[in-house]
Amino acid sequence: MITSDAFRGKRYAVLGLARSGLATVAALVASGAEVLAWDEREEARVQVPDGVTLADPLATDLAGYDGVVVSPGVPINRHPIAGYAKAAGVPLIGDIELFAQARATLPPHKVVGITGTNGKSTTTALIHHILKTADIPTTMGGNIGLPILMQDALPSGGVYVLELSSYQIDLTHSLSCDVAVLTNVTPDHLDRYDGFSDYAAAKERIFTLQHVDQIAVIATEDDPSRMIASRINHRLHRVASTDIGDQAEWPALQGPHNAQNVACAQAVAAALGVSDGLIASALTTFGGLPHRMERVRDRNGVLFVNDSKATNPTSTAPALAAYPAVHWILGGLAKTDELDACAPHFSHVKAAYTIGEAGPMFAKLLAPHMPVTQSVTMDAAVAQAAAAAQPGEAVLLSPACASFDQFRDYEARGDAFRAAVEALA
Ligand code: ADP
Repeated sequence: MITSDAFRGKRYAVLGLARSGLATVAALVASGAEVLAWDEREEARVQVPDGVTLADPLATDLAGYDGVVVSPGVPINRHPIAGYAKAAGVPLIGDIELFAQARATLPPHKVVGITGTNGKSTTTALIHHILKTADIPTTMGGNIGLPILMQDALPSGGVYVLELSSYQIDLTHSLSCDVAVLTNVTPDHLDRYDGFSDYAAAKERIFTLQHVDQIAVIATEDDPSRMIASRINHRLHRVASTDIGDQAEWPALQGPHNAQNVACAQAVAAALGVSDGLIASALTTFGGLPHRMERVRDRNGVLFVNDSKATNPTSTAPALAAYPAVHWILGGLAKTDELDACAPHFSHVKAAYTIGEAGPMFAKLLAPHMPVTQSVTMDAAVAQAAAAAQPGEAVLLSPACASFDQFRDYEARGDAFRAAVEALA
């Protein structure tokens, strides 16, 4: 656990006691802070350690508090805690901000922060893997893996690799990343922002928080990313997916999207002093992440691929591009009412199988272009796709939607796909 004298004697309210909230409470208590904690779920409240005051911050006088810690899942554009904390003059923060405040008391280290609409986790895991290959002490956290405050502090010379969603950046005010990365910016999460430019501005803050001698790495392959790059006036590396070496040598990094992720990771590793030779060998040994174009099974020459993490059309597009003949399972909770980003690859799709709430809408959209079956459930979609697919073709779950209408999260959705595939005779 990361503890810090920076928190001693300070007062924090922690709202939301899921995994990262509980880790935050534990780290603050162990650091000698005074903590008030709350979750509307009683079963979460019973997990807080002794010495913590259990009370709703919205029913507490917050004057004198040093921060209200909320989970990135709390929609601060709508939730009353935002206005309430502001009125009390207390900053609204997340666990990444606490980590930033703890940095001065940690052994000398560097922080790499990765943001972008798509590719954050892959790029984060890849940078972490390259650093490990180079024997640099490193840990990854943020939006991936264990909450950062739950992890052990690194020894001197270590590198923290943090995946930062725009929600996490919104709750971060003093993290200056030694290297900050932007993979891309395309429309997403628009329910949480006043339009696309606000969403892009949230991502841009990762750079405005940096100091002049720190490094920005930006894949300047979409207009918003190019705009952001044009406004950087500290050290900037522009990278492009066309400039990465021989992608055929990296089995877990196929597809145009992964070329972009590789371009970012190579620039970061080089900026941290890792040699070209070590970077090249780490790319060949990277194993990939579950639920991202994960090869689940080869059944009689039909490849089943779990890309459940593709929760918007832009992240689904490269998966369709990667296979020439696809039986495409899609649907869930729609984030868009179009599939424009996927349209250039419709010729790769043999047939589509729709599931979830967006099923009827997508079926209507796709019907002029391909055969569509409204499968409704994952089990039906897998069975129907498996029955139709010919050797050499792929059955691809790449839903282009959030999962919450039918599943707890994208991982549960990917697990359901895997289970249905494994149950096929
Ligand atoms: P994130 O953490 O930003 O959601 P992931 O690495 O988990 O990104 O990938 C999420 C989805 O987006 C996967 O379906 C993957 O195939 C796709 N993807 C990954 N990298 C990119 C990229 N650079 N551009 C577009 N899509 C991507």
